[in-house]
Amino acid sequence: MHLPTAFLRVALRRTVLPSSKPSFINFPIRHLSSTTHKMSTIPTPPITPLTPFTPLTPSSIHSNDTDATSVADETESQDGNEEYTPRYIDVGINLTDPMFSGIYHGKQYHESDLEDVISRAKESGCKKLLVTGSDLIESGEALKMATEHPGFIFATVGVHPCSSSQFESPTHLPEDGEEYLQKLKELAMSSPQVGAFGEIGLDYDRLSYADKETQNKWFSRQLDIAVEVGLPLFLHSRAAADDFEKELLKMPRWEKLKGGLVHSFTGTKEEMWKLVNAGLYIGINGCSLKTEENLEVVKEVPLESLMLETDGPWCEIKRTHASAKYLEEAPPIAPTVKNKKWKKGCLVKDRNEPALISNVATVIAKVKGVTTKEVIEAAWENTVKLFSRLDDAPAEKKEE
Ligand SMILES: [Zn+2]
Repeated sequence: MHLPTAFLRVALRRTVLPSSKPSFINFPIRHLSSTTHKMSTIPTPPITPLTPFTPLTPSSIHSNDTDATSVADETESQDGNEEYTPRYIDVGINLTDPMFSGIYHGKQYHESDLEDVISRAKESGCKKLLVTGSDLIESGEALKMATEHPGFIFATVGVHPCSSSQFESPTHLPEDGEEYLQKLKELAMSSPQVGAFGEIGLDYDRLSYADKETQNKWFSRQLDIAVEVGLPLFLHSRAAADDFEKELLKMPRWEKLKGGLVHSFTGTKEEMWKLVNAGLYIGINGCSLKTEENLEVVKEVPLESLMLETDGPWCEIKRTHASAKYLEEAPPIAPTVKNKKWKKGCLVKDRNEPALISNVATVIAKVKGVTTKEVIEAAWENTVKLFSRLDDAPAEKKEE
C-alpha cells in the first residue's frame, strides 16, 4: 500500500467517526483448528516443480464461472494451436482506497465506480482479489467487501508500518496498543474470508509517519499475534531489508508462523534471494518493474516464488518506466480518462486497478523469456498454496 492517501483517510476518519465502536470489532472469534498446527521446520526454498497442468474437459469449460476457477481454461483452437484463458489472482489491491469511491485527495470527482472496477477485474480474468487492510478500520472495510463478494474477494487484516503509530495514538479507537492488537486478532479470526494477516512490516522510506522504533515494536507484536491467528503473512518491506529479515525470521517464532508474501518487492537481488531462501514469496507489481535494475531482479525471481499484484490504485506501469517498452503491443483494456472527466466504463488515468494485472504478467514473461501462461499459472499455484483460503476447495473441507 502507498501513502499518503491512507494517512489522509485516517485523519479524515478521526473527524467523522461515530463515538460508538464499529460493529465489525465485535465479530465473534472463531478459533481455527489451524492455529494448533505448527510448522516443525523452517520453510525451505520452494524448489519443487509446479503441479502438472490439468486441462479442462469440454463439459466443464462452460460451467458457471465460480466452479471453473479451479483449473485454467485451455482448449484447442481449430488450427490446432493451444488457446489459453488467463486466470489471475490480484494479491495486493487496495479497494478500500477512496479513489475507488471517486474521491481524490479528499475531493469527490465522480460517483463510486467500485462495482465497475470489480466487474472489469472479472472480465479481465481475475478470479480472486486479496484486498489489503492496512489498519483496523480499513481491514474491517476490506472484510465487509469480502462478505459482499464471497469467493471472489478476500481480505487481509493488519496494520501497515506507516500506520503503526495508531497503536500509540490516544486519538484512535482502541486507546491502548494491546487492546488494539486484541481487536485485530479478533477481526483476523472472525471469518474464513480473511485470507492473510497483514499488511505488516517495515518502511524506512516514510519515517515521518512512524519512526523506526514504533515500526519495529508493532511489527514484532503483530508477528506474535500472527502466530495465534495462524494465517499466512502479507508483508511490506521498504528500505529496511536487514531489520525486516531479522525481526521476521526470529526464532522460535518464525517456525510457528505460516510463511508469507513480501509484496511490492523493490529490493536488490541479494535481498530477494534471502527472502526466497527463507521460503517467502515475492509480490511483483508496476513498482517492482520501474527501472532496468528492478527488471534484472525480477528476471531472477524463481517462477516458484512469484505472485502477481497491482497494488491499485498505486503502482501502475507508466510510460517512463523501463517496463513500458514491453507493453507496446498490449491492447488497451478500456478507454482511459482523467478523474475530472470520468465516464462510466472508463479507466481513470493514474489510478491502477486489477483489470491491468495482465500488464504485470506480460512484462515479467518478456523479462524472463517465458510465456505469459507460465507466469500466470505459476503465480496461481503459488498463491493458492500459500493463501490456501483462496483455493476453490469448499471452505468447510479446508477447515477440517
Ligand atoms: Zn505495501
